[in-house]
Amino acid sequence: MTQARTGQHVVVLGAGMVGVACALSLRHRGMNVTVLDPLGPGAATSHGNAGVLARSSLMPFNHPRLWSQLPGLLRGRSAGFRYAPLAMLDQWRWGLAYLSNAREPVFRETTAALDALIRHSGDVHRRWMDAAGVAHRRRDEGWLFLYRSAAGFESGAFARDTLERFGVGTAVLERHELHDLEPHLQPIFRKALWVKDASSVDSPGEVVRAYADWLTQQGGRVVVAEATTLNRTDTGWTLHTDGGNTLHADHVVVALGPWSREFLRAQFGWRLPMGFERGYHRHLQPAQGAVLNRPVYDTAAGYVLAPMAQGLRLTSGVELNAQHAPPRTGQLDAAERAAREALPLGDRSAAPDWLGSRPTLPDCRPMIGAGPGQPGLWLALGHQHIGFSTGPGTGELLAQLMLGESTTIDPHPFRPQRFLRA
Ligand SMILES: Cc1cc2nc3c(=O)[nH]c(=O)nc-3n(C[C@H](O)[C@H](O)[C@H](O)COP(=O)(O)OP(=O)(O)OC[C@H]3O[C@@H](n4cnc5c(N)ncnc54)[C@H](O)[C@@H]3O)c2cc1C
Repeated sequence: MTQARTGQHVVVLGAGMVGVACALSLRHRGMNVTVLDPLGPGAATSHGNAGVLARSSLMPFNHPRLWSQLPGLLRGRSAGFRYAPLAMLDQWRWGLAYLSNAREPVFRETTAALDALIRHSGDVHRRWMDAAGVAHRRRDEGWLFLYRSAAGFESGAFARDTLERFGVGTAVLERHELHDLEPHLQPIFRKALWVKDASSVDSPGEVVRAYADWLTQQGGRVVVAEATTLNRTDTGWTLHTDGGNTLHADHVVVALGPWSREFLRAQFGWRLPMGFERGYHRHLQPAQGAVLNRPVYDTAAGYVLAPMAQGLRLTSGVELNAQHAPPRTGQLDAAERAAREALPLGDRSAAPDWLGSRPTLPDCRPMIGAGPGQPGLWLALGHQHIGFSTGPGTGELLAQLMLGESTTIDPHPFRPQRFLRA
């Protein structure tokens, strides 16, 4: 590993939440920083998400109880999960590795690691939102897991026990208590879990753009261009862009979210075991004066409905598919039908449906650290369902590692060597 020194030039590839956060953390430590993205800041996955920052997100999807749920999932019995069999044949290595991690020891390590990353990120987000002038976009009213049946509530027992073990603030609500909290929800939910240790924002993309503006005010650079090739030189790295420009850097950070896999393969021949948990969103206007005060997760129907600047953002569950496969909106349409049972909803917004990919590694932990065998190359990727919330903690950890500082959280669970060799 080649340590970074204050004043050196770092190019960060990708201006999603993770890349912009890495750039900020490095700039705050006196590094000379350039961020590169063909779409500009916060325009891809970090724009389209549900904007939830929650301690409850420490639960990976491949927890040990996944095995009992698997037959139903594969038969398409879960509204929150779809998969494309041909794409899965293509990604069978990732699928097997993902399933093989659904066991107790990995689960314990992952939940502890994610809890630390989420908590640290929450503190940093809070400071940065104030400094970047976007604190008004954050709500601290938590979020709600809604249960339509007693059996549905029962099936959430393992998750509730886990949250309790980590001291996550929650409250079980009966129907009338849910009504007090969210009076416009229809009385179809028998119970709810109110995750109080959670915040949300009304425009994730705007938060990333505000962070990027704050970065440029502090002397960082944001360049709208695509990185095409990366070459190691005697003194660092040379990077070529689609516009024909060349940049020289002492260090490069790859924070390309779901695009990391194809980029690392093309540049270094690495086969990153990354799965694509695709998800969609569309915006709907509330009807009959209905108001939703916080994001809600309808556990039976597998969607999240979140109040946003554009209206109510309906995000779908997981569609395991190839990253660039054509959109299939059946899951989102079903989610919309279910959401219309839950809340009075009017028109869809005119904007087209949005599709993005949650980039997921087999143990559901991101990769944060030095690229094996590539001095001056650093990785910050694989943030699955929680990259919007955990970007700032990732940035801090990566900058601490790069500069050889002592780290706020344990870096070991996030080391790239879990899946990459020199
Ligand atoms: C439906 C859905 C809901 C979600 N809800 C939540 C939530 O509520 N809370 C939460 O914390 N997370 C949520 N997530 C996950 C979260 O959005 C992601 O984990 C996070 O956005 C990943 O951030 P990133 O910066 O790694 O990637 P991205 O935001 O995808 O950024 C990667 C960037 O790389 C750029 N890029 C690609 N190729 C190149 C290249 N060659 N050169 C330069 N740049 C390039 C892209 O343009 C892109 O801007 C959700 C995701 C989905 C899909």
